[in-house]
Amino acid sequence: MTTSITSTEKQDMIEELSQDHLIDYTKQIAQYVRLSGSQDEENAFKYIKDLLESYQLSPKLTYDDAFISIPKEASLTVNNEQFECITHSMAASATELTGDMLFISKDDLHHLSDIDGTKVALIEGLATPGIVYQIEKTGFQAAIFINTEYTYEMIVSPVWGTPTPENVEKLPKIPVISVTAPSGEKLKEQAQQGSSCTLSTSVDTGIRKIPTLTVDIQSDQEEDSFILFSGHVDSWHYGAMDNGTANATMLEVARVLAKNKHLLKRNVRLAFWSGHSHGRYAGSALYCDTHWQELYDHCVAHVNIDSVGGNGATVLSQGNCMAETKNIAQKAVYEVTEQDFEGKRYGKAGDQSFWGTGVPSLFMGLSEQPPLDGTAANAHQELFGQSGKSSGFGWWWHTTEDTTDKINPEFLLRDCQVYLLSILELACKDLLPINHIAALEDIKNGLQEWEGKLQGEMTLEELQQRVDSLIQRVESINILKNEPLTEAQLQTFNHLTMKLSRYFVPFNYVADNPFQFDTLFQLPRVPALLDIDALQKVSPQDEAAFFIKTKIRRKINELSFQLNQANQEINRFYETLKKE
Ligand SMILES: [Zn+2]
Repeated sequence: MTTSITSTEKQDMIEELSQDHLIDYTKQIAQYVRLSGSQDEENAFKYIKDLLESYQLSPKLTYDDAFISIPKEASLTVNNEQFECITHSMAASATELTGDMLFISKDDLHHLSDIDGTKVALIEGLATPGIVYQIEKTGFQAAIFINTEYTYEMIVSPVWGTPTPENVEKLPKIPVISVTAPSGEKLKEQAQQGSSCTLSTSVDTGIRKIPTLTVDIQSDQEEDSFILFSGHVDSWHYGAMDNGTANATMLEVARVLAKNKHLLKRNVRLAFWSGHSHGRYAGSALYCDTHWQELYDHCVAHVNIDSVGGNGATVLSQGNCMAETKNIAQKAVYEVTEQDFEGKRYGKAGDQSFWGTGVPSLFMGLSEQPPLDGTAANAHQELFGQSGKSSGFGWWWHTTEDTTDKINPEFLLRDCQVYLLSILELACKDLLPINHIAALEDIKNGLQEWEGKLQGEMTLEELQQRVDSLIQRVESINILKNEPLTEAQLQTFNHLTMKLSRYFVPFNYVADNPFQFDTLFQLPRVPALLDIDALQKVSPQDEAAFFIKTKIRRKINELSFQLNQANQEINRFYETLKKE
């Protein structure tokens, strides 16, 4: 067996990371308000590019068209009183729209229907796409969100990246604004008295050029596989934490890796995105559209970074991962903090644009606030999961207050260490540390949940059996990994590991088509079976039920076919191994 990186080599690299650099880079980037496609964003991109060049790397900065939406101005008047407010990316523009306000809760949205088009919804919380969609569907002509002491910048469309003819109609058609909690209290009183409001919004939505910056840190061993390490540069306001600290972390990791590339067994590709905040991940979606085959053939894993190093961010156990990458996070987080990483399944968020290519993902956010009470924490908990073990990135996230005084230098260095260790684990090991048993167990649990919902109407037994048999086969392969292996054999194992991901990741994370992006608000395991939810909503005697069951049958065939392909991949692996 050839040798992997030693713990001393790893430790030396960890010690090379500099807290001063991290703070300096963050400050440089956070001097710009980085709206997607703006001059100030370009300034930040050029700063990053210059710095990468100073590490003797060759970054590529390209510009492409994307569908981007920048909120400009908003006004709200009730009984001659003006309320400060903001509007949101991808919401509709409106001039002097007038309507009666109706205060509703999120629960009301489940049973309200046919609101006549003259009403304006007044609702507490952050302006998320799912709620905006329901408000629009219910028949309101506009929405006013009551935030906290601050208003929170949000993007209210569920459409991933640039729309296609199939999903363009899902772009919001109503104007959406947010006000602070004190304004909200007054508005609630006015709504109770039957007052109407007048609102105007201006949102600049259209096609514009956005930058993408990538750089390869090339392993000395001529490898064409790579780890993608990505984060967005565009921001709301100064975005010191979101995403200045993350960009600084990427730069510092790049600097240390560039000095130690003789230790890399695989390449590391850094990607800096635009269009995350103002194009619903337009930059990473665009990169997937233009590099699909390369990602499928060569990308080992995608590590994403967002909003690290915040004041008070002591919880490192609740970040996102896939079942197959959890072990990497666990190891790195434990080594740095002695916390037990539990991990959360990804929602539809955060530049996770590569699931269709079958590339496993690790992280998005990493360090979060401990569970806190209060309106800001509650609002954030809705976005960051209801585990009750963290409350998101901090009250300043997505506000004017995301400035460098919210950064804790020690936490930032700590987070940078976790990221470096995770990337070293992926880039320096002889055998790729992707845990397919965990992926298959996760898929199995997903199938069991769907089976339960089917209540005997149909069965997923065939899929369950195929998954069980794959678990046994992968277990046998894992035993072989303990034998002494030649360089060629190691490559054969790694090739299989990558190939299996190409089946298992879409199986567990893509509902429809791996070449498109799903337009979903929530993402269950094995999302291709989502029609089972639709089946539960119709009477079994209905023709509609029969049609849905037919669709599910075809989906089962598609899933079964994928598992069979994975099985054949294992057959090919054994044939190759025999010859080596
Ligand atoms: Zn972010």
